[in-house]
Amino acid sequence: MLVSALGLSSFAAIADVPAPQDVPFEGTLKIHVDATDIARRVFRVHEVIPAQAGALTLLYPQWLPGNHSPTGPIDKFAGLKVTANGKTLPWTRDPLNVYAFHVDVPQGASNVEVEFQFLSPQDTRQGRVVMTPEMLNLQWNTVSMYPAGYYASRIKAEASVKFPAGWQFGSALEVATRDGDTVHFKSINYDDLVDSPIYAGQYFKRVDLDPGAKTPVFLNIVADEAKYLEIKPEQLKLHQNLVQQMYKLYGAHHYDHYDFLLSLSDKMSGNGLEHHRSSENGVSPGYFTEWEKGALGRDLLPHEFNHSWDGKYRRGADLTTPSFNVPMQDSLLWVYEGQTQFWGNVMAARSGLVKPEEARDMLAFVAASYDKGRPGLQQWRNIQDTTNDPIIAMRRPLPYGNYQMSEDYYSGGQMIWLDVDGKLRQLSSNKRTIDDFAKAFFGMENGKWDVNPYTFDDVVKTLNDIQPYDWANYLRERLDGHGPLIGGIEASGWKLVYTDKPSDAIKAIEMRRGFTSLTYSLGVAVGKGGDISDVLWDGPAFKAGISPGMKVVAVNGKEFSGDALKDAVIAAGKDKSKPVELLLKNFDEYKTVRVDYHDGLKYPHLERDSGKPDHLAELLKAR
Ligand SMILES: [Zn+2]
Repeated sequence: MLVSALGLSSFAAIADVPAPQDVPFEGTLKIHVDATDIARRVFRVHEVIPAQAGALTLLYPQWLPGNHSPTGPIDKFAGLKVTANGKTLPWTRDPLNVYAFHVDVPQGASNVEVEFQFLSPQDTRQGRVVMTPEMLNLQWNTVSMYPAGYYASRIKAEASVKFPAGWQFGSALEVATRDGDTVHFKSINYDDLVDSPIYAGQYFKRVDLDPGAKTPVFLNIVADEAKYLEIKPEQLKLHQNLVQQMYKLYGAHHYDHYDFLLSLSDKMSGNGLEHHRSSENGVSPGYFTEWEKGALGRDLLPHEFNHSWDGKYRRGADLTTPSFNVPMQDSLLWVYEGQTQFWGNVMAARSGLVKPEEARDMLAFVAASYDKGRPGLQQWRNIQDTTNDPIIAMRRPLPYGNYQMSEDYYSGGQMIWLDVDGKLRQLSSNKRTIDDFAKAFFGMENGKWDVNPYTFDDVVKTLNDIQPYDWANYLRERLDGHGPLIGGIEASGWKLVYTDKPSDAIKAIEMRRGFTSLTYSLGVAVGKGGDISDVLWDGPAFKAGISPGMKVVAVNGKEFSGDALKDAVIAAGKDKSKPVELLLKNFDEYKTVRVDYHDGLKYPHLERDSGKPDHLAELLKAR
C-alpha cells in the first residue's frame, strides 16, 4: 500500500513512503564500505540497489533494535549522491520523514548507485566515537540504505569492507572471499546484516570460549594497545564458564555461532548492544590487565549474551517490527531488559566473574533505588510507563533523573523478577524458581533463531504453567504501582539496611564516576570539583534549595572536598544543633545554604535475615 498525503487535509499529513510488504525484493543490495580513512574518521559507502523505472524511496534505518528508539544517526549521514546509468539523479528528502529519500529511476535503468559518507563523531559531545587510529566499530545501519516497500528480512544483501592495512576484525558475518584488506561477506538478509556489526582493529585477539563445541562461541577483542590484550588463564576460564552457565540455564541456544565483540579503549566510545549472534561490548582498557580493581561492569558480557535468548530470539510482539523504519513499541522491555538485567547480574556471579559478596553489594545499591532513591516512583510514574523512555529521553542527560525516572524497567525490572523468584519458591516450597521460567520461556527450539514474539499474556501463561497463581495481578501491581520494589530481597532471606560505611561497590562507583555519593543521607551526589550532579527530589538538600548544576565551593567554612562534605554530615549527626553549611555558586552568584540533616552517613547494604533460608545464595551459585 502506498500511504500518501494526497487528498488528505494538511492536518493529517503522512509521509509518502511505501509501507513494508512481506514479499521478496528482486535482486541483491551490494554494499561496499571503505573504512580506511581512520585519520578523518569517515566511512565511505558505495551501494548498488536493483531498481526499475519509476518512483523509488530509499530509507536510512531509523528505528534501531537494541536501542528500541528512533535513534538512527542520520545527523552523521552526508554526501548523498544517486546515479543510474552514469547519470546523476536528483533526490528529495520526504518532508514528513527525514529518513526517506525519493528518486525517479529513468527508463532503461536496472539499478541505482548510491554514494554517501557516515561521519564518526569526532568527540563524544557529537555521539559515540566509532573510529580511532587503532580500531573501528562498523554498524551496518549507519553505512547502508535500503528500498522502502519490503520487510527487511526479504531483502538480500552482499556486503564488503575495505579495512585499514593489516587490521583484523570480529563479526558474526561469514567471510566469502578476501582480497588484500578487502573482505567480502556471504550473502545475508538485510535485517541480519544490520544485526551483525564489526569490530576491527590494529591490536586484535580472538579467543575460544567453548573449545571443541559444535556451536562455536568466540571472544573477539580490539584494544588501544597490544598490552591490554593480555588475558590470564583464570580470566579466560571465567568467560568460558559464562557460556556453560547459560547453557545450563536455558538448555538451548539460538545461534549457529556466536561472537562477542569487545573493545578495550579510552578513545572509542563504550557500548553495550545485543545482537542475535554477536554483541557489542565496549569497556575501559584495563578490563583484563587491572582485574583486581574490582568487578564493576563485569555483568556487561553476561547481560549482552543473555539478550540472544531474551530480546533477540524472544521479543515483545509490539517490538517485533518488519523494517527499520516502522515505529517500535516498548511495552515489554521490563522482560527484555528487566529480566536480562536480572540474569546479567546472576550469571556474572554463577560464572565467577563477580564474587557473591560483590553481587550482593550491587544488588543492595539497586534495591536502595527502589526503596528510597526514586521519589518519582512514589510520586507520579511507574515502571511500566518508563518503558517509553527510549523514545522520550533517548538517553539524554536529565535535570532530576530520580524524580523524572528513565529506563527504570532495567533495574526496576530486575527487582520485580527477583520478587517473582521469591514468590515461585514460596508457593512451591522451594521446588520452582525463576530458572524454571527462564528455561520454559526462552529455552525452546534449540538452534532456531527466527524471532519468537510474545505478549504479556504469554508471560503470565508460562508462569502459571510452572506454578499456578494470579500472576497477571502480581505483575501488574508491581509494574503499575508506586513501589517500593524490594520484596524480592526479603523473600530471598536478606534485609536492606543503611549503615554509615559505603560498600566496596559504592566505593567503586564513586571512583568510576568521580563523585561523592550521599544520596541516602544529604540527598546529593557531588563531583570532585564540587559540581552537584544529582539532588534527590524532596531530600534534605533539595528542601534547602539546592539543585543540580550548582557548585559546592566550601563546606562548614572550609574548601570543598568529598571528605570535607562527609565530615560535615558526620559532625551534624553528632551535634543536632549544627547544620551542614555549604557555600554554593549558582551561575555567578554565591550563597550560603544550611542543610538541616542530622542522621549521619547512610549507605545501602544487604544484611542476612537469619529467620529465613538464604535463597539468594542458591540463586547466585554455579549450576
Ligand atoms: Zn540490554
